[in-house]
Amino acid sequence: MPELPEVEVVRRGLEPLVIGRRIQSVHCAVPALRYPLPDLDVLAGLSCQRITRRAKYLLFEFNDGLLLAWHLGMTGQFHVLPRDEPKARHEHVRIDFDDGSSLRYRDARRFGYAGLMSAESWQQHAWFRNLGPEPLSNAFDGKYLYERCCNRQAPIKHVLMDAKAVVGIGNIYASEALFRAGIHPARHAGRISLRRLQLLVQHVKEILHEAIEAGGSTISDFVQVDGKPGYFAFGFQVYGRKGEACPRCGHVIQRIVQAGRSTFYCPGCQH
Ligand SMILES: [Zn+2]
Repeated sequence: MPELPEVEVVRRGLEPLVIGRRIQSVHCAVPALRYPLPDLDVLAGLSCQRITRRAKYLLFEFNDGLLLAWHLGMTGQFHVLPRDEPKARHEHVRIDFDDGSSLRYRDARRFGYAGLMSAESWQQHAWFRNLGPEPLSNAFDGKYLYERCCNRQAPIKHVLMDAKAVVGIGNIYASEALFRAGIHPARHAGRISLRRLQLLVQHVKEILHEAIEAGGSTISDFVQVDGKPGYFAFGFQVYGRKGEACPRCGHVIQRIVQAGRSTFYCPGCQH
């Protein structure tokens, strides 16, 4: 499933290929993905001015104040191809630009979804209004996380993965950031000092930056031909390494299940 770094890399890849191109027509091969598709015909004649991101949503802003929010779900992919390129398997939406290129959306499992809203008020939409801050923004700092954790019995990993506390930190990046910060994933959030939470925040930001950086070299795979969304070739230190020696202290890496998700950690150096 694409996580925040993957979505950010898709955003950066799409920017030069989509911004400023005038949309001629939109073709939807299916009425719905995860939810019914909005009436995308209204985009004809418009051009995208800006592509931003909120959590794992791509936000395409158009010149008449419309905003198209798109979530890639589990297997969604965008490609920019010549218009006469035949439709690929699982291609559900094609947006034709007047320069002969087209933006295609493919999604084998169809868990992606899209919505049209006003660029002025999108933040009030149900998808966005309860979201916590972006992990790479200044609003997400040690003090903020400490306040969110205060009096909470929940394991710290749950807080990191709670979109109301902070968006876009998926299972893998949560495990890795906790490893780097030396914090046990099951530790009660309310019992972690401000200093340690500051360190954790720093590692969260670092790891997301590194993943985006690692993905930068694969942009063409994402938006042109035959790219597959997924995790970047990125050196995870604990994730998926049950039974291996911890690279920091040599203890054997363990796997536990928290809220139905695998967590990997080192019992030697995470407390
Ligand atoms: Zn260790």
